[in-house]
Amino acid sequence: MLDPIIYAVPVFLAMMAAEYAVERRRGEPVYRAADTISSLSLGILSQLVAAFSKLAALGIYTLVWQHAAIWPLPADSAWVWVGALLAYDFCYYWLHRMGHEVNILWAAHVVHHSSEEYNLSTALRQTATGHLFGWLFYLPLALAGVPPLVFVVVGLIDLLYQFWVHTRQVGKLGWFDRVFCSPSNHRVHHGQNDWCLDRNYGGILILWDRLFGTFTEERDGEAIVYGIRGQLGSFDPLRANLHVYADLWRDIRLTRRGSDKLRVLFAHPGWRPADAAAAAPKPAWDLSRFERYAPPLPAAWGLHALLQLAVLIAFSLHFLAVVPSLGLGAGLAYAGLIGAQLVALSRLTEWRPAALRIEAARWAAGVLAVALSPLHGWPWLVLALASGSSAVWAVWALRAMQRGAALPVRRSAPPAA
Ligand SMILES: [Zn+2]
Ligand SMILES: [Zn+2]
Repeated sequence: MLDPIIYAVPVFLAMMAAEYAVERRRGEPVYRAADTISSLSLGILSQLVAAFSKLAALGIYTLVWQHAAIWPLPADSAWVWVGALLAYDFCYYWLHRMGHEVNILWAAHVVHHSSEEYNLSTALRQTATGHLFGWLFYLPLALAGVPPLVFVVVGLIDLLYQFWVHTRQVGKLGWFDRVFCSPSNHRVHHGQNDWCLDRNYGGILILWDRLFGTFTEERDGEAIVYGIRGQLGSFDPLRANLHVYADLWRDIRLTRRGSDKLRVLFAHPGWRPADAAAAAPKPAWDLSRFERYAPPLPAAWGLHALLQLAVLIAFSLHFLAVVPSLGLGAGLAYAGLIGAQLVALSRLTEWRPAALRIEAARWAAGVLAVALSPLHGWPWLVLALASGSSAVWAVWALRAMQRGAALPVRRSAPPAA
């Protein structure tokens, strides 16, 4: 059976196109090319890793279910499905809440929050390291006897439900906002304003938040500033996935006391050992001085990068379709190649001085990989189109650079005197 995500992707893309059309008509720009590419790249990367990691997570679940389930529940009962969905959503609430309240879990979840925009593409911004500890929170379902098939399907329903709530184009929905996770209450969840922090964790039901005291309604007339405190300042998908782990590792190395080294992992994000904070101070956070990370990107390069992303989406869907029949080595090589292309693409959207060289290397690696692989037919066609696009934009960029109009600027360059 094909991975169900493959069927969901065209629906995601169509809904994003519809949202884009609505925002254009309303004159409220909420899509930026570089941010959208970053979010979709993170979604792809998370699926590339999940192709391997979810097998391990599901394997553990199945083992526990086989050997420790208290009573076996039948997969052909509607009550089991409804109960499992509710129970899954309850476990999700706690996983998500701990994902905001415990450093080592925040390190995995932060990816979903580092976009400074809020639109349907933000929903696809998913962690690549979530399977490290996420499986722990669903073991109660295995112990209760929920069969693995039911667990996988209700998990998918819970995840897919959350796609549509990532939009600014749907306002308040009255009673719905107080029962279900909705665009209004999930906007609050993505805010970095004081009143938004650590609120509204529910996946399908927001009732859990009302039950456990973490619910906050969206405030009329108070603009939400999206993103995280401690700005990422990068579109690199690897950095987005690893930056909090790196921060924790730095503090573990810097702090002297053994108990503090352990506490770094389990404390609330924001807590740091005093000696580590003194040795590597962070700039004070000030919402009034917040500026979105938006390095200038010529529109033509943004369009080119979007086209390249479309090519990588096509290859990612192909990867998901064939990975079950590939050996581990070939699967990892295929995933690694797409991942490397995504990282290179992020350099392009950051409009680094090396953008042109990186683009040439990316193009050469893509041609070489398809030439060496046993793939025939459509991959060549897609690659030919992508190469054509690369060639056109490279010529455009070179000419623009000759005119001195669009030279990539080093972000750290001192201002002209
Ligand atoms: Zn969250
Ligand atoms: Zn979200």
